[in-house]
Amino acid sequence: MPRATQTTIQCINCRTPFRATINALIDPAQNPQAKIALLAGGANTFPCTNCGTPNTVLTPLLYHDASKELLVSFVPMELGLSKDAQEKAIGDLMRDLTTNLPQGAFKAYMLQPRSALTMQGLIEQVLQADGVTPEMMQAQRERVRLVEMFIQSPPEVLPSLVQQHDAQIDAQFMQTMTLIIQQLASEGREALADQVVDVQNTILELSSFGQTLMERAQAQETTIASVAEDINALGQNAQRSDFIQLAVRYADDPERLQALVGLIRPAFDYTFFQEFTTAISQAPASERDRIQGVREALLELTAQVDQQAQMALQEAANLLRLLLSSPNPDELIAANLPMIDYTFLQVLSANIQEATRRGDVSASGRLKDLYNRVVAALQASMPPELRFINEVLNAPTDAEALEMVNQRAVEFGSGLLDALDSVEQQLAGQPNPAIMERFEAVRRLAVQTLSG
Ligand SMILES: [Zn+2]
Repeated sequence: MPRATQTTIQCINCRTPFRATINALIDPAQNPQAKIALLAGGANTFPCTNCGTPNTVLTPLLYHDASKELLVSFVPMELGLSKDAQEKAIGDLMRDLTTNLPQGAFKAYMLQPRSALTMQGLIEQVLQADGVTPEMMQAQRERVRLVEMFIQSPPEVLPSLVQQHDAQIDAQFMQTMTLIIQQLASEGREALADQVVDVQNTILELSSFGQTLMERAQAQETTIASVAEDINALGQNAQRSDFIQLAVRYADDPERLQALVGLIRPAFDYTFFQEFTTAISQAPASERDRIQGVREALLELTAQVDQQAQMALQEAANLLRLLLSSPNPDELIAANLPMIDYTFLQVLSANIQEATRRGDVSASGRLKDLYNRVVAALQASMPPELRFINEVLNAPTDAEALEMVNQRAVEFGSGLLDALDSVEQQLAGQPNPAIMERFEAVRRLAVQTLSG
């Protein structure tokens, strides 16, 4: 049996036939998504293209992870295969696996594959190889049960349920809930996913865990605002030495240091750290250790910020792959709109450029099509004021832009001024001075029109 087979499935719910690719070999090195699907309980499970019902295709399969020397075979009992037929099916898959191995990759563990009797057993073997203990699995199963209970309960009993299970509501519980939401959305069950999001928000509001999160977020906001004020006070022409002094002032306040790096990461470049070293050597001996500590903290914080940016890029790249492989990208775009941000658009544009550079017309065509869909979805989801500002900023000439404001500003009223403020923040750092000039002219006219 080949490792991947195209087949036609008839939906168990609505009888619609649709095409699916069945994987008889799950190897995370080749297809990480297949492992994720397996752990979610859905190896070879395909949502119906018509009604979204998950359809599972039972098939003998091999799970192989060379990095963990793990090879497990699984023949679903429901297939009712004789012992001989089971051995033949696994033997065929093994042959396919070993003949496709790179040279020198054959290892002793492949001679004796383990077997799993049930899908759950297979999942547990995979998890154990990942270092997940049976106790951790048990705890996770309880978490899932708890999440399910919350989802199935009528809204009016949520407050008392939260009170009753307050101690079990923690970061892992919330993460489990988020995974379930993602799973539902990826199966095309958006309405249910939205409901679970509402339940999650209610739990966040009512639980001690949510309260703590909120208090921490508020404290963080206050810190960020006060650090931003300090930075502003340094003025437009602040030098690296000013930032060094500011950082040293925060020596005993790691949260302020963190806010400082988060706000102005680009200021902490190579030259900054060089100047910092000089400043340390010039400081009085009694101060040096303390200042040295600040420099080290800043180095660590900048590394953290860079890593987070890296992770955001990774997430955007994953989403892009998902969208490209989806038969219905518009639905997926709508479900993932909050993740479609500046970083995502940057990754998408970079991919278009790269495909164009390679001369891969088909890939660049698909990517550009996706870009248009994403932009259309973003525009459709924008409040009308923002959509209007966007149109104005993209008008062919300044005169036309101002004429649009002249004619339509009253339609939006003071909401337009608020929207202009939020756009101004997004435009800060925008390298194109023509856009900024047009923006300023637009705002002057809008203020004038609306106050007159
Ligand atoms: Zn169906």
